[in-house]
Amino acid sequence: MKKYTFWFVVGSQLLYGDEVLRTVDARAREMAEEMSRELPFPLEYKVTAKSAAEISDIVREANFDPACAGIITWCHTFSPSKMWIGGLASLQKPYCHLATQYNLEIPNDEIDMDFMNLNQAAHGDREHGFIAARLRMPRKVIAGHWQNGEVRRRLGDWMRAAVGVAVSRDMKVMRFGDNMREVAVTEGDKVEAQLRLGWQVNTWAVGDLVREMNAVTEAEIDGLMETYLAAYDVACDNMNAIRYQAREEIAIRRMMEREGCTAFTNTFQDLYGMEQLPGLASQHLMAEGFGYGGEGDWKVSAMTAIMKAMGEGGNGASAFMEDYTYHLAEGQEYSLGAHMLEVCPSLAADRPRIECHHLGIGMNEKDPARLVFEGKEGPAIVVSLVDMGGRFRLICQDINCVKPILPMPNLPVARVMWRAEPDLARGIECWVIAGGAHHTVLSYDVSAEMMRDFARMMDIEFVHINKDTTPESLEKDLLLADIAWKLK
Ligand code: MN
Repeated sequence: MKKYTFWFVVGSQLLYGDEVLRTVDARAREMAEEMSRELPFPLEYKVTAKSAAEISDIVREANFDPACAGIITWCHTFSPSKMWIGGLASLQKPYCHLATQYNLEIPNDEIDMDFMNLNQAAHGDREHGFIAARLRMPRKVIAGHWQNGEVRRRLGDWMRAAVGVAVSRDMKVMRFGDNMREVAVTEGDKVEAQLRLGWQVNTWAVGDLVREMNAVTEAEIDGLMETYLAAYDVACDNMNAIRYQAREEIAIRRMMEREGCTAFTNTFQDLYGMEQLPGLASQHLMAEGFGYGGEGDWKVSAMTAIMKAMGEGGNGASAFMEDYTYHLAEGQEYSLGAHMLEVCPSLAADRPRIECHHLGIGMNEKDPARLVFEGKEGPAIVVSLVDMGGRFRLICQDINCVKPILPMPNLPVARVMWRAEPDLARGIECWVIAGGAHHTVLSYDVSAEMMRDFARMMDIEFVHINKDTTPESLEKDLLLADIAWKLK
């Protein structure tokens, strides 16, 4: 992934004299350096801005620097916010207002009017907040002392969401074949997706992939087989089937890298010239950070790549997922998630096994090799992006993953088991009411708050189904949101 940084822009004015401004400058530098040691991306102190020209200049620089993933502002002193109108109105990068102050406590003996003039974030940040509200700017506001662990965690999470925006605006999805015939939820407006989310979604012929596969050498396959055998156990005696997946992976990766794509789709209905649907191949590509969507689902593919980038450095577990079937016994209500082959091994609780089994769906001449494993336990989210016609809706649901309660020895695919919030039945009702897809991105390390921040920055609708959601409240929220989005 590219190296991203964030810029710390501090507001002030010329009224205070050089000494105060020198103190503000030194403290802002100290704060940025100290916070950078714990934040997931560097925070670079750029300027203490004292005029409209300085603010416009720094915003212009931020807009044009591809490494700058967002700006974080703060007003140590008072900064009259008419100075900020021109700069903020032209800002094209994610924006966070850190409402903090340098000192933790009010110093009982030291405090006098000089101290008050130097340390007036409490009203400087209100003036600053007004102008962003007046400009209707999408922004994140985080309040609290800059050395507080929770403040830093939230700032770090916002940075990850902003990096998701940067990755999204750079996103190219390679599609092999079209969507699965007749399926509605995997469809969408690709022009709107490019305009709103930055995604370039284009198609390449399966025949081009087959030609690329035929050009892969046995030595190249030997190399990738070593990688597979180092990471996975082999529980099948058909080495040719595994080698065929290696051939597919090398060819898909080569085509994506040639075109600068970081996500891809394919469909079991369009495998002409291929012996097997890519299973292990797609799974290992996902483990390497590429996005994937089955049945031509380019929306979930792009979201998988974006959320993997947002969670990078966590446990890496964000993956393409599909709700398959339920266990509805009272007190043991769970969803079982899987896919016909393509579940990312970043979800695995233990070392995955390579198995080869017959796949009845699609035009597989031979039994495709795939990784089989159980998913990890723990709190997670599932995320779905749907096209509502005129706008995108991002739906996020809190879930709790468990060790699968049954061994399911004849199930030939990787599996994850969870219970959705608020409970399985209400959770299903809410998901269905909101129009959430059967395809999702499941993530253990991207939070609902990060997805809310991402949706705000992208100016798309956000729906969060959590422990407090009821079908009744959700229906009302969706109705009001529908009216609001039509007026926007
Ligand atoms: Mn599917």
